[in-house]
Amino acid sequence: MKAAILRQVNVPMKIEEVELLDPREGEVKVAMTATGICHSCLHVIDGSLPGIQLPMVLGDEGAGVVTAVGPGVTHVKVGDHIIVSWSPTCGRCKYCVSGRPVLCINQPPFGFLADGSTRMKVGKEDILHFGPATYATENVIPASCAIPIDPKMPLDMAALIGCSVMTGVGAVTQTANVPAGASLAVFGCGGIGLNSIQGGVIAGASQIIAVDVSDEKLKTAASLGATHLVRADKNAIEEIIKITNGGVDYAVVAVGNNKALGQAWESLAPGGTCVSLALYPPDQKMDLDPNKFAAKELKIIGSRYGSARPSIDFAIMVDLYMSGKLKLSELVSKRYGFDEINEAHRALAAGESARTIIVF
Ligand SMILES: [Zn+2]
Ligand SMILES: [Zn+2]
Repeated sequence: MKAAILRQVNVPMKIEEVELLDPREGEVKVAMTATGICHSCLHVIDGSLPGIQLPMVLGDEGAGVVTAVGPGVTHVKVGDHIIVSWSPTCGRCKYCVSGRPVLCINQPPFGFLADGSTRMKVGKEDILHFGPATYATENVIPASCAIPIDPKMPLDMAALIGCSVMTGVGAVTQTANVPAGASLAVFGCGGIGLNSIQGGVIAGASQIIAVDVSDEKLKTAASLGATHLVRADKNAIEEIIKITNGGVDYAVVAVGNNKALGQAWESLAPGGTCVSLALYPPDQKMDLDPNKFAAKELKIIGSRYGSARPSIDFAIMVDLYMSGKLKLSELVSKRYGFDEINEAHRALAAGESARTIIVF
């Protein structure tokens, strides 16, 4: 198979011929149909997620077709269509059992499969897996990450559900459990923030305020259901308080930026909740007015992967797409070939694109 290998930060990935070993116990081999280009991979490429061992194949958002299963795998078979989850689960720990599998404490060591080894080799060299490592024509993933879906679902669109859609929509519908009629502001309208806007529509939020510095991204947010558009660099807090007549009930922070977090905090109505799902640069520390906890009962909560329960929620996302309630093709600003993978990351880093996909 072929995979895009990152051998050094800030050096373009190279597509190389890679030997893919057979799936072992509890593993699934999948031929990727499509992969999304995700910001977390960009953080590895540009070195802002330090301490990551290379060489590695990145990619955390994909969908494809099962080509082999290892011993003990019964929930999928060869030919099944799957969405790839990036969060393996053991199914037994207290988090898995209590419906919070994204917090599973028995995940494989970072970069490896459960037995501590890799399934990708170039000659004698081990190539590490960044989660499901979807920047490859085929790969081996933990069986718990292979989530079977209705074969009628187009796989290129399904790929998006595996990270950005689940993270963005889930932050609203799962983590915050936003009730119908509440007001919602979303700070940062990139690939994930746009999905939080969609989450607001699905939840039945009354006002959905998109906040960003880019007019183009705000325009896309409006097309996905934002009812109000606010420029982050122009009195955003005052604007939001005016629109909502006193503050917003829920504020999702979908950009790893302390200033956005501060704006979200200051925009909240009494009793409001700030939901942060972003990855922040390691040197950033929270700087919020702590008196608002006691004075206004404000809450701040974290969201990982939209608090997904992939084996339930991916099917729900597929159903929402099939019934026209979740927009996916509208999210994709550009499609690239596999050989254009570095260009796709450059465009994402330059803020030129909301979501792009590679179709193999
Ligand atoms: Zn991702
Ligand atoms: Zn677990």
